[in-house]
Amino acid sequence: MIVRAALPTPLHRLFDYLLPLSEPEPQPGCRVRVPFGNRELVGLVIEVSETSDLPRNKLKPLLEILDRKPVLDPGMFKLGQWAARYYQHPVGDALSHLLPVLLRQGKAAEFAHAELWRATEGASVDRLSSSAHRQRELLELLLQHPTGISADALRAEGGQTQLLKTLAEKSLAESFEHRPTPLHADLTEDLLNEPALPVHGEQAAALDAIHAASGFTPFLLYGVTGSGKTEIYLQAIEKTLAAGKQALVLVPEIGLTPQTLGRFRARFRVPVHALHSNLSDRERLDTWLHARAGSARIIIGTRSAIFTPMKTPGLIIVDEEHDGSFKQQDGFRYHARDLALVRASRENVPVILGSATPALESLHNATLGRYQLLKLTRRAGNAQTPRFELLDIRQQPLDAGLSDELIRRIHQHLGCGTQVMLFLNRRGFSPSLICNNCGGVVDCTRCDAHMTLHRNPPHLHCHHCDRQTPIPRACSHCGSTELKPLGIGTERAEDALQKHFPDVPILRVDRDSTSRKSALEKMMRVVHSGEPCILVGTQMLAKGHHFPKVTLVAILDADAGLFSADFRGMEKTAQLILQVAGRAGRADHPGEVVLQTLHAEHPMLQTLIGSDYLHFARQEMGLRQAAALPPFAHHAIVRGEASRQGWAEQFLQALNESARAQVQLPEGVQVIGPFPSPMEKRGGLFRAQLLISARSRPALHAWLDALIRQAEADPQGRRVRWTLDVDPIDNY
Ligand code: ADP
Ligand code: ZN
Ligand code: ZN
Repeated sequence: MIVRAALPTPLHRLFDYLLPLSEPEPQPGCRVRVPFGNRELVGLVIEVSETSDLPRNKLKPLLEILDRKPVLDPGMFKLGQWAARYYQHPVGDALSHLLPVLLRQGKAAEFAHAELWRATEGASVDRLSSSAHRQRELLELLLQHPTGISADALRAEGGQTQLLKTLAEKSLAESFEHRPTPLHADLTEDLLNEPALPVHGEQAAALDAIHAASGFTPFLLYGVTGSGKTEIYLQAIEKTLAAGKQALVLVPEIGLTPQTLGRFRARFRVPVHALHSNLSDRERLDTWLHARAGSARIIIGTRSAIFTPMKTPGLIIVDEEHDGSFKQQDGFRYHARDLALVRASRENVPVILGSATPALESLHNATLGRYQLLKLTRRAGNAQTPRFELLDIRQQPLDAGLSDELIRRIHQHLGCGTQVMLFLNRRGFSPSLICNNCGGVVDCTRCDAHMTLHRNPPHLHCHHCDRQTPIPRACSHCGSTELKPLGIGTERAEDALQKHFPDVPILRVDRDSTSRKSALEKMMRVVHSGEPCILVGTQMLAKGHHFPKVTLVAILDADAGLFSADFRGMEKTAQLILQVAGRAGRADHPGEVVLQTLHAEHPMLQTLIGSDYLHFARQEMGLRQAAALPPFAHHAIVRGEASRQGWAEQFLQALNESARAQVQLPEGVQVIGPFPSPMEKRGGLFRAQLLISARSRPALHAWLDALIRQAEADPQGRRVRWTLDVDPIDNY
């Protein structure tokens, strides 16, 4: 017999092996260990067959069958294969994304007997002194995990694990050996730790619609920030749990904060399993096994969590569905939101896409009637919608990007005892260093980009390839020593704020200031203490966090995305502005949002401040339709990169021509390019791209099939690394 396996290789095909006579026939979805060149690989059995296209003497026997029963259930197995075809990605590599790392390495699909920690019976934070903050926090975390949690996972959630022993000495915490919990199919009573909030009006209508759904029903939950989307998720999950089923919640990379998790854990008595990047491989496997066995009832994770198997799937939620982090940007370029829909349809369960700023693709699907649109237009409880204002800064003197009027407003809000948040989507001190004498700018030698000046510590940094250099003393063009920073980054804004507000804590939140996890937590403690402070940061501030005491949000450079080369630029800018604005005044403090702009008449800004996101989206949709751009067309991009200029373009040109010689271009398919990428040189490589636009998906895929066949056969392909991106979310 021949075993046909999918192997984690870059090749778009399956591999045949002989099944030793002594071995039983493996089922599809079982793992096998096989020889591959001079290596061994772990792959998945796709099928067992009598015949092979290769002669017998060319076939090698497989080395080992690793599973008696399939590790992947048929549903997930098919979803993985479907996704590989859809994204035109090698099936073996695509399927490996469905397995936790330890299973990819060939380890047994069994639970570990790890040491876990839990709070002791009756333990309560009241027994700790009120000044023992860290012990109290640690104990609170333990109390959120009644079934136990490993020290690693505790640390990942911000717990100070060195204090576990202290808690144990006080008999507040204990460790125990963890054994897999049996499935509690009857765990339907006593689901809640705290009662659900009473809902009225729009929220009640949305919940009614969701509760009425049975089987595959896609919902687009459009709700302004603070309108109670999360409350809807919680109540929808409650019903799923009561039916004995599991819920999967996807959140953006940056959204999986202790705050978010805390809300889910506070509500439910069942364990909430979080799949975040700080888990160990062992913990990831355990969670995966719990989900597959049905004992993990709520699973929250980022993009890759879409591949978590569920024994009793009941509901899939994608929070902040517009977020770009749901799309994987290298290798297997899947979109977790789109796969969530495919998965929900195959598993016949409802799926909720939630956002204050839905992707135009999703709104389009709602317009076409494919998704049921649910709207929450007002903030929940007694919270008020923030007031928007454009601050025209033409001819205004700016100090590090701050206008006098803005500084006055900041004083005013701080004076009322509230907090202020400033948004600037550029980290570093300034985005470029320019010569005062000749105007030369310091560029990265490996990219078509300026080096960003950082002060803390002082160096130049390329944000595209990560190259770092010391700050030069003199201009490399003219030798002048008069180099000065041009433009404003968060470090510079922080400096200026420090000067204007010497007595107020200034908290800078960007990738540099938060590279150590504890740093962000420390800043969040200051914010949540409620004392006046100024937050200044990048889009890290736009997601996941709620800042109830912030009453003024200012966007220092609202124009930044208005003139982007990407046709999605306007959509992304509008989303970012509204997401940032949504942080303001969430509780009973009314908020104020100020947008500094040089283009106060810009129609997009006018629509955003005068109306709402849906209104903006309708306008933008009209433009897209007129230009036959997504969502009114389907795109794919073939990208190439090579060490010499021109190679990638030549390769793509040849590829396009040879594909056309083989297959007729299907009707409604347009090939645009090849042309150099918007940033042609990056990381020392020269890049080009070919854009394929099609009216229908089958036509698009027919053409992509032809292209891939040619690309794999093309010997030039060796000096050009090429990738294919189906449904790209940006054109870089
Ligand atoms: P979103 O997810 O849309 O940003 P949340 O669900 O976080 O909104 O709700 C915002 C705030 O309003 C939270 O503090 C939440 O507790 C509160 N809230 C939500 N729904 C209700 C409700 N029905 N009654 C009272 N408060 C509510
Ligand atoms: Zn110079
Ligand atoms: Zn660079």
